[in-house]
Amino acid sequence: MANTGSVRVRLAPSPTGTLHIGTARTAVFNWLYAKRHGGQFLLRIEDTDRERSKPEFTANILEGLQWLGLAWDGEPVVQSERIEAHRAAIGQLLASGHAYRCFASEAELQEMRDRQAAENKPPRYDNRHRDLSAAQQQAYLAEGREATVRFRIEDRASIGWHDLVRGEMRWAGADLGGDMVIARRAPADQIGDPLYNLVVVVDDAAMAISHVIRGEDHIANTAKQILLYEALGLSLPVFAHTPLILNKEGKKLSKRDGVTSVSDFRAQGYTAAALANYMTLLGWSPPEGMGERFHLAEAAAVFDFDRVNKAGARFDWDKLNWLNSQVLHDLNPADLLAALQPLWLAEGWLDPASGGCLGAAGPDQAALESLCALIGPSLVTLRDGIEQARPFFSRPELGEAALGQLESAGAREALQALLERLGEGPLTVDQAQALLGEAVAAVGVKKGVLMKTLRAALLGSLQGPDLLSTWLLLQPSGEAAERIRRSL
Ligand code: GLU
Repeated sequence: MANTGSVRVRLAPSPTGTLHIGTARTAVFNWLYAKRHGGQFLLRIEDTDRERSKPEFTANILEGLQWLGLAWDGEPVVQSERIEAHRAAIGQLLASGHAYRCFASEAELQEMRDRQAAENKPPRYDNRHRDLSAAQQQAYLAEGREATVRFRIEDRASIGWHDLVRGEMRWAGADLGGDMVIARRAPADQIGDPLYNLVVVVDDAAMAISHVIRGEDHIANTAKQILLYEALGLSLPVFAHTPLILNKEGKKLSKRDGVTSVSDFRAQGYTAAALANYMTLLGWSPPEGMGERFHLAEAAAVFDFDRVNKAGARFDWDKLNWLNSQVLHDLNPADLLAALQPLWLAEGWLDPASGGCLGAAGPDQAALESLCALIGPSLVTLRDGIEQARPFFSRPELGEAALGQLESAGAREALQALLERLGEGPLTVDQAQALLGEAVAAVGVKKGVLMKTLRAALLGSLQGPDLLSTWLLLQPSGEAAERIRRSL
């Protein structure tokens, strides 16, 4: 594949875990950049770690990206299927003298590292097998020793690139840990499993990737990879290293911080729109006047790296919650219902047989949409829609405050007066207001007393959504009357 000069970016997740928020944010920035430039957003599944890679993680990653609306172009490239190309590149580096076989055993390398640690030196391969004589090599081969393949990294090398986020970057060869292993240990007449830095370079070049956009934890890899591009005679992509996502304490966000996978956020009731919006803000500042709430497509129209910060981005739950509540508040009742329905189904609430509170034959669409309109404005996450809807699907216990209210002066009498006037069937708001008026007039209490008592009777609590709407929802099935009767 030739580099056509257009923007081609990629996400290269390793399927060794679920889709992490850091990888998802990298996906967002790649996607935005591709869309901004009318380019391609490609996907490569980096499954070369055969032990830790699992098909269920690949499935989770693909599903998470789809859910977030980050559609990729073409079929995902599966890295393990490209092993022959990786081996060929290693063969090329061996032939050109950029790489060599290292026969050092694991025990010898461990002894070297222990010595370095004892001397307070950073761990580093001492290039001991870089210039083995033919006789030494023959001796190791005769011993039947296995070998890794190492790529030469000259200490005096100076590696520089212009990073779209971080500007001019320069890295010294001496700081890269010595000659780098590019193929795992294997019998010395073979080439063992190719390793990360090598395969990434070979694959990015084969996919004609124009811009490598990834987390700043890869900066040292980039320096090594540039040396590989040069040794393989490949042209370099442009690099952009995005800031890390930090927790409250300013440390890199990790599994210990609890929710870190896109699927976890989803299970907690965050919407794709809010999460995608929020991830865009993790390290990118929208231009003046744009505000912090937007669709990905709106961000794509203006996205560039000059507004991506170098400093780490602190994860701000309050902002995510705010964005999520805004998204939920803006959904129309039918769409909110579609989002809440799976959660309610899981609670067993939509089964006609177990229905009743919202209609004798089970809750109907109109009642469910009215319920959504009622609770929607107070939701922060979709999961809040379980607790808030609960009293509409199952009869609540009368809490202490509710019992207290029923004991207050005139309360029971007023409720009794209301019950006597409460026919069967649905009511309009005006009819309900009129009934309240008649009941308080008959008993001689303040309207507020009856309202509060009615709330206690219907919801078992003194808190909850709008009282009249609650009542009207519970009225047609006879549930309102039943709850009033029970509390009397
Ligand atoms: N598989 C690597 C990772 O998940 C990809 C890094 C890269 O983008 O080159 O960290």
